[in-house]
Amino acid sequence: MPTLKPHGLALLALLTVAGGAAAQEVPAWSFAIHGGAGTIERASLTPEQDAAYRVSLARALEAGAAVLRDGGAALDAVQAAVELMEDDPLFNAGRGAVFTAAGTNELDAAVMNGTDRSAGAVAGLITTRHPIAAARAVMEQSPHVMLIGPGADTFAASLGLEQVPPSFFFTQRRWDQLIRVLTEQGRPTPLPPAGAPGSPLGMAATAPAPPLDERKFGTVGAVARDSRGHLAAGTSTGGTTGKRPGRVGDVPVIGAGTYASNADGCAVSATGDGEFYIRATVARDICARIAAGQTARAAAQAEVDDALSLGGYGGVVVMDTRGQPAFALTTPGMYRGGVTADAAASVAIYADEE
Ligand code: ASP
Repeated sequence: MPTLKPHGLALLALLTVAGGAAAQEVPAWSFAIHGGAGTIERASLTPEQDAAYRVSLARALEAGAAVLRDGGAALDAVQAAVELMEDDPLFNAGRGAVFTAAGTNELDAAVMNGTDRSAGAVAGLITTRHPIAAARAVMEQSPHVMLIGPGADTFAASLGLEQVPPSFFFTQRRWDQLIRVLTEQGRPTPLPPAGAPGSPLGMAATAPAPPLDERKFGTVGAVARDSRGHLAAGTSTGGTTGKRPGRVGDVPVIGAGTYASNADGCAVSATGDGEFYIRATVARDICARIAAGQTARAAAQAEVDDALSLGGYGGVVVMDTRGQPAFALTTPGMYRGGVTADAAASVAIYADEE
């Protein structure tokens, strides 16, 4: 387990300070993740919840770091960490994903390999346990970039990727959240999916509010630079609570929520209001800004601000060719963390921790 340093992102920031010889050092490898952005404030998390998120983030960081420490590929590190977070019910991806208005989980994911700008994406999965693995399979084992719906699940199954009943993704917390949102909006509430231990209709609507307002956010993502200097990015999500069935967000849209290019010198994974992140082409524009000479930090902030100017909140994690993770957010918090060959893992939640 890596050392937990709640304010440790400041250490990573120090590595980027211009001038000193140390600032020129490029760590042998570097890795960073996010677990979603949103209205996450100190007052909204109990100490136990705060600690639980930090432990989960540290575990995911270590999963990626272990791959990179062994000389593994950026893409493998990204997949390892995202799969762990997909299985973690704290995050809105895989198990623990938010529900559509119809009471179903529809999962989106994407990966991109900066080496050759190959990319794979899936949308609307309902039975594939690890959507990020399906996205990678699309990239590596099909001539396509994006597969959706039953065809995507069938493709994943045909390659031996683990299939689960839809109720596998069910969590009471997300179900209660759906019922509350739909009730507040005066929309009809669905029955829990078959096989789920779901609450009886009507009871969930009166359940106490969860401490977090995560109605929109909670996506997971990772960016990596491996010891060969290759960059990769991956993102996975259940989308947004109460979304219309069939809705696809920014995550699997290459250039919106996910992008990586060695040539541009960047890898990006985003979280936020997907519709606005698509319209602002956030991930691709960050890379274009970096290719034009902006710092990762400045490029990231400019693009989350651009999405915000359209009305969309969220955040991004960016990796550059110097192995310096950068984060930017327009929400009070974003679950996030970074680790390099030279710096111990550090995690953060609230905006002011940077
Ligand atoms: N960006 C995701 C979507 O719109 C949601 C999130 O980041 O949590 O599907």
